[in-house]
Amino acid sequence: MFAKYKTCCFCNSKNLKKDNNQKLKLNFYIEAIMSHFNLNKKKISKMKVYTCKNCNLKQNNPWFDKEHAIRIYSNAYGQHNKGWSNLINYKNKGTFPDHGKLFDLLMKNLKIKKYAEFNSPFMGLLLNFFDKEIKNKKTRKLFIDQNIKYLSSRQLAGFSLKEKKKSNIFSKKLFKNLLKLKNKNFSKKKIEKYLFSDNYDMCWGINDNYKSVNSKSLATELFDLKIKSLHSNLKGINLDLFGIFHTLDHTFVPKKILDNALNLSKNVIVYCHVNPELNKQHLFTFTKDFLKYLEKNKIFTIDLTNKINKQYNSPELYFLCSKKKIKKFNYY
Ligand SMILES: [Zn+2]
Repeated sequence: MFAKYKTCCFCNSKNLKKDNNQKLKLNFYIEAIMSHFNLNKKKISKMKVYTCKNCNLKQNNPWFDKEHAIRIYSNAYGQHNKGWSNLINYKNKGTFPDHGKLFDLLMKNLKIKKYAEFNSPFMGLLLNFFDKEIKNKKTRKLFIDQNIKYLSSRQLAGFSLKEKKKSNIFSKKLFKNLLKLKNKNFSKKKIEKYLFSDNYDMCWGINDNYKSVNSKSLATELFDLKIKSLHSNLKGINLDLFGIFHTLDHTFVPKKILDNALNLSKNVIVYCHVNPELNKQHLFTFTKDFLKYLEKNKIFTIDLTNKINKQYNSPELYFLCSKKKIKKFNYY
């Protein structure tokens, strides 16, 4: 079930050096994975941490092969708890995912009319944009709850013909009410929103469900998203901002994802872990020095980590990047 990862997952360099510190730290995620695949500590300890001397990424080698990596994020740990908590907290309390004052800073410094995110739709700024479009904030909870109800009301497997007919009438009624709610309480002026998705990678997706509703399906209904694959033909899409929130380290092709985002959008905002003690549930992690590698490769970057007034519980990095020079940022 393990595979060798001898070249860097980002830049493909073969120049990887084994780290001195190889202490194994267990956590909630890795324990769930160990129990799902019936692995003991000794087997997990075979994974060693290496640092890429070219782009400064840290990665485990060996690590799970692709088939098992996909199963980690679909079966062993299919629900992205953090993402759903973000949605539920917003629904019940009106709070947003914690990115400090990132959203305000970006809104003040950039003109955003077309915005996209990659995978996991409740991790980034889509809830902030959504909130701006609701005229009557009190309808927020009702709208989200009714959308969940509507999507699950279309699940009819195992029903009798009579039950199916009854359920169909209920779904139609729910949908009509949702339309009314939307027309009455939502601003007609909306920014164009996209979700780029990758269902068969080491990221939550095919089984990221809450009350039997999938995160991407719900997000599409709530946010009026256009769903695209980064592997398809993307001609004609010109974005102002592309957000990658904790998902660049959850793909086997991070360079392709970042390159595509930079090609599609004037600016790209990336939020990622930079914990030098790479945990075993991750194949790789970026480091703060990754920005030096990007600059060397003519990608302009601004490190926003310490500019957004956020309290960090573990080492994390926020950076804005672009193929064109980013005009001076105002921090207000
Ligand atoms: Zn590298």
